[in-house]
Amino acid sequence: MKLCRFDSGRLGLVEGSDVLDVSPALDLLPALRYPLPQEDLLIAHLPAVRSAVLQLRQGAVRRPVSAVRLLSPVANPPKIIGAPINYRAHIDESVKDQGIAHGRNVTSIHDWGLFLKSSTSLIGFGEQIVLRRPDRRNDHECELALVIGARCSKVARADALRHVAGYTIGLDITVRGPEFQCWRKSVDTYSVLGPWLVTADEVPDPDALDLSLSVNGELRQASNTRQLVLDVAGLIEMASAMYTLMPGDVIMTGTPAGVGPIKPGDTIRAAVQGVGEAVVQVGEHYA
Ligand code: MN
Repeated sequence: MKLCRFDSGRLGLVEGSDVLDVSPALDLLPALRYPLPQEDLLIAHLPAVRSAVLQLRQGAVRRPVSAVRLLSPVANPPKIIGAPINYRAHIDESVKDQGIAHGRNVTSIHDWGLFLKSSTSLIGFGEQIVLRRPDRRNDHECELALVIGARCSKVARADALRHVAGYTIGLDITVRGPEFQCWRKSVDTYSVLGPWLVTADEVPDPDALDLSLSVNGELRQASNTRQLVLDVAGLIEMASAMYTLMPGDVIMTGTPAGVGPIKPGDTIRAAVQGVGEAVVQVGEHYA
């Protein structure tokens, strides 16, 4: 099942090039009072939401995907976790290019660990990336992203995929520079998620997916998640060794080679096999 959020926060079921408006399924989410649970409500109740979506499908209003504004498929991820230098060819390009490495000793993800991106950096493909720091390189990074479905901690590798609710495309937009990743990758609009969530049952092997990204029609990145240094299960094992993972947590699995600068007015097209493809615009001005 492909689920999207669109327009003012409506829930959609994606079928082919159409979105079916199944927003009444959101009514089964609990009405809450402070303090709120640290989880994304939609993802925490995904099995019940899916049942409701199937019941609503028949009478749902159908619109072309191209006619709606796509938001992040996860509204309130407790954490957005990033994986640095997780493709061999990206490590190689980072070692060669001081515009990426900025003096860092580019070793391995096992040395560096993971990093967190701010939740306020999150947008969907129907919104716009707005660049900051025009004095710096602002790069695209195309990634497979996964969404955690259930609270878990210290997950064994063999059990890891059971904790995934679904997959989506993640763009880890990055200001290059000497600072830590959590600073340079947490700018407003620098985490793009979507165009929708594909539930995990439709992605039997997340470690064998083609992914690609083009800017203004020019192919910049093309690889396959087989090239991941630490695969999807390995990333869940690593993240959950340090953090309790919550429903709605997002793990961006790392970028392949070909990262490069984007500028105001660019059109970015990203694709991940089994998920889909979508376009996001870079706004015309710097923030
Ligand atoms: Mn990245």
